[in-house]
Amino acid sequence: MIAKKAAKREQTDVVGCPQCDWVSQRTELSKREHAECPRCGYFLEGAATRHHTLVAIAAAALVLLLASLQVNFISYSVTGSEQSMTLMDAAWQLSFFHEKVLAVLVLLTVILIPVLYLVSLIWVYSQIHNSGSNRLNRYFLRLMEHLKPWLMTDVFLLGTLVSLVKISGLAEVRLLEGFWGFSVFVVLLLYVYERAKRTPIWDYYMATSRPNIHVQAGMTANEQDLQTCPLCHALNAKDADKCYQCTEPQKTAWWRKPGTTLALIFAGAIMLIPAHWLPVMETVRFGNEQPATIIGGVTELWQAGDRPVAVIIFVASLVIPVAKVLTLAVLLLLAQRQTPAIVQNRLLLFKVTDWIGRWSMIDIFVVAILVALVRGGTVMSVYPGSAAVSFAAAVVLTMLAAMSFDTRLFWREAHK
Ligand SMILES: [Zn+2]
Ligand SMILES: [Zn+2]
Repeated sequence: MIAKKAAKREQTDVVGCPQCDWVSQRTELSKREHAECPRCGYFLEGAATRHHTLVAIAAAALVLLLASLQVNFISYSVTGSEQSMTLMDAAWQLSFFHEKVLAVLVLLTVILIPVLYLVSLIWVYSQIHNSGSNRLNRYFLRLMEHLKPWLMTDVFLLGTLVSLVKISGLAEVRLLEGFWGFSVFVVLLLYVYERAKRTPIWDYYMATSRPNIHVQAGMTANEQDLQTCPLCHALNAKDADKCYQCTEPQKTAWWRKPGTTLALIFAGAIMLIPAHWLPVMETVRFGNEQPATIIGGVTELWQAGDRPVAVIIFVASLVIPVAKVLTLAVLLLLAQRQTPAIVQNRLLLFKVTDWIGRWSMIDIFVVAILVALVRGGTVMSVYPGSAAVSFAAAVVLTMLAAMSFDTRLFWREAHK
């Protein structure tokens, strides 16, 4: 098996950097070593992980998630009557309040995408030594890569804790088996995700051998009329339709055009206006309707003395989305006017903005959980407000904007 791997490695002796387009030489990595792009420091690959361990942990995570769906997640009791909800309720109850889009989004990011991701991962890593490069294997591997940015179980977990604080003053809340199972699942998923990210798995999944093109390390792919595959980092001819290694379609130039990114940023910014203007949640207490905007909710938490949670919601719902829109727009518009000295700073700023954006989903998850938990009660009920869907749209649009942002712009201009 080692001989086979070494032979395959010879074919991919160079690798492109998806972040800055630099081509570098690959070296054999020993345990605990990893390779970075020499120009921008992008994590290219780590040493191979033990595949069986990864498959076992992924399977355990999957079983835990499915088991958590079967039991109660949280319960709350007020004036003697107790009510409980499952994880599925949190994802799906919104659909009963004419919020189908939102319900689908929560269901996807918290349950369906994690399940699909784990199934793909288990398939890919358990097939590695059997039928390396058949079409189905490559399909699952590409699917796995595409699902990664949309895994939001950790954000949901924080959303659960925020929801508890929000209603703890009004009712007695208990965390049940479903919550604990889900928490352990989130930890396992994060572990599997990190380990899989570091494994140079493409070596085992080559579609065909590399087309006969000359590649030189120590310069950019663009300078050699080549393109780096965004998924597997292989180098392809500029006019190639599909990546020779992973078969990912390569003609995605429009997606990475500054115009596309700018349009997405603009759309996200527009969506933030109704998101903060309209009520995000409506609480009915003893027949009294109390609509609350996001900022109204923050003020209420602050006055009730739950200051840390008020700060979390304020930062996640207002500071992050606004800062993200502004940072992306400024980085994009200034990309053409920079010197190599500040490229690294801008890159760091971009990476932080990109990473932090998904945490804005907290407020959506809080609404989903409270609607599912506090429903149809004689004392109190919670309904989703019309701002929730605009807010979710703003988060998704700005995430797409960050994905389409072409970081290679920084260097291409800097080195002209
Ligand atoms: Zn790089
Ligand atoms: Zn590829």
